[in-house]
Amino acid sequence: MLIIGDGTVLTFDKDSRVISNGGIAIEGEEILDIGDTEELQKKYPEATFKDVQGKIIMPGMINTHMHLYSTFARGMDLKTGQPPKKFVEILEKLWWRLDRTLNEEDIYYSAIYAILDCVKKGATTIFDHHASGNLIDGSLDIITEAVRQSGIRASLAYEISDRDGHEKALEGIRENERFIKKTQREGNSYLRGMIGLHASFTLKNETLSQAASLADELEVPFHIHVAEGIEDFYESKTRGYKGVAYRLDRFHILRPGTLAIHGVHLQEEELEILKNNDSSLVHNPESNMGNAVGFAPIKTALDKGIVVGLGTDGYTSDMFESIKVANLLQKHELHHPQAGWNEVFQMAFKNNREIATRSFDKTLGILKAEAPADIIVVDYYPPTPITSENAYFHILFGISGDMVDTTIVGGNILMEDREISGLDYQRITRRVKEQAEDFWKRF
Ligand SMILES: [Zn+2]
Repeated sequence: MLIIGDGTVLTFDKDSRVISNGGIAIEGEEILDIGDTEELQKKYPEATFKDVQGKIIMPGMINTHMHLYSTFARGMDLKTGQPPKKFVEILEKLWWRLDRTLNEEDIYYSAIYAILDCVKKGATTIFDHHASGNLIDGSLDIITEAVRQSGIRASLAYEISDRDGHEKALEGIRENERFIKKTQREGNSYLRGMIGLHASFTLKNETLSQAASLADELEVPFHIHVAEGIEDFYESKTRGYKGVAYRLDRFHILRPGTLAIHGVHLQEEELEILKNNDSSLVHNPESNMGNAVGFAPIKTALDKGIVVGLGTDGYTSDMFESIKVANLLQKHELHHPQAGWNEVFQMAFKNNREIATRSFDKTLGILKAEAPADIIVVDYYPPTPITSENAYFHILFGISGDMVDTTIVGGNILMEDREISGLDYQRITRRVKEQAEDFWKRF
């Protein structure tokens, strides 16, 4: 048994309790007790004690849309002459070329680097969306190996697409099927599978039908980019639909638990379709701004009761950064200084928890007895008092991912005092850089 104590505990439970001189007793994979440090020590005298010296103890962050495969893009020369000017050119000149170049070692080293970066920045659960057009079969197992070595909780999906031909789309369907059946059989509580789809505009009707049959059979939802760029909307219009959600609804892609990513170009009545199908939307503010695709109708979606989560789209591994940008983006676009406060809190701390809890059948994103011990310690000494009412504002204005010093998932310490546990981080990062240099030559 372990007690992490002498901290300021932010529970994010229904009362959003803030416990000064607080601690958490962990037994096995779960939280056993929460309360005053001295009382916990008296109650459990046999427990090992970790003194966090007044730092913040809070639930690990949840990232509901990530691309581990994007690691080697950082600083890469696209060698294309003209840089991309619009969204689809960014896909064609960068991401689709990158994913087709990935080999087995590229996939593994991209994944392990990005996962450890998530751990370093306090994410304990991630929802990944993977593509590697010339190594589809078995690609999710390569990522699983990195997930297993790191100890993070992950939902994986292979991005099915007809963009490289229908045979590749079928291979993508088979990879999701193989992986999901395997995870269902093995029952590993740290690993989940969803059926990944790239986006409506790169998917044929027959592919959507086949993917929907697989979802029926396996009883799992989809993880799909929806109306990210205006091109996705136009393509659905060309096919005779009033919008992307109409087409996806026609093929039963929008079903309970489906993660519709972005939704920038969804119209109000399409949000109703999401709501009626009990699908979630995931907002990725930095990515939307970076790709200049537009401003997602987050407030409208939340007002309709849609579970809107918050992700990073691989733009960063730092959910604290995503929270800050999401908050400013709402204010900037809606021309209102009060916009975003509640919405971003709702996305990052309530809805991401709901999405993760639904996927993993465990109460994630909250510190309470019997919940999985997914906990982070943040090296933050606030200049002003922290209360239940203002804890979120301390996160928004005072905390960044680089201040996380300890990350625990299911009672396992993945990073302690900023040192990754059980893996040689220096050796891995050196090896990742070598792999990246080799990859850049092949790109
Ligand atoms: Zn994405």
